[in-house]
Amino acid sequence: MHFNNICRDVELFLRGLKLDLPELFPAPRRYRPAPVRGRRTSGLPPAARRNAKRIIVARVKHWAGLLNVDYNRVAIKDQRTLWGSCSGRRNLNFNWRLAAAPPEALDYVVIHELCHLREMNHSKKFWALVGLACPDYAARRRWLKENYAALRHPDTAALLLPKAAAGE
Ligand SMILES: [Zn+2]
Repeated sequence: MHFNNICRDVELFLRGLKLDLPELFPAPRRYRPAPVRGRRTSGLPPAARRNAKRIIVARVKHWAGLLNVDYNRVAIKDQRTLWGSCSGRRNLNFNWRLAAAPPEALDYVVIHELCHLREMNHSKKFWALVGLACPDYAARRRWLKENYAALRHPDTAALLLPKAAAGE
């Protein structure tokens, strides 16, 4: 018995059936993670963007030192539904709106992403790491959830403009 051959035969049979009866084989649903809007920081004035990056990078540096983790690059993004993310290449991405959030909320997301550089998952071990740096992380998470709409408001960008330019 060659199971591989049987599998192959079944596969070929199903492939043929799919061509004959496409309605039985709907296109597979693609899992789509939260949309990431690459480099688009639509409507965000460059000065506000620079300011957001400065604020966020300062916290990343601070916490990376305390948590003793190395990261590669920090990018500021205009993600619709994500506050932050990190990649296997140790690049960190943060939503620019965090720069306009209370420092506790920003720090929570920074800590969360930096802890992923140690634990690339949301296991108990991961949350224990987050909890060490940020014992009240649950409240900070809740704040972000509850104030999501407020931070999505178009006026948020104005909060990040340098003072002199803000009143123009
Ligand atoms: Zn996470």
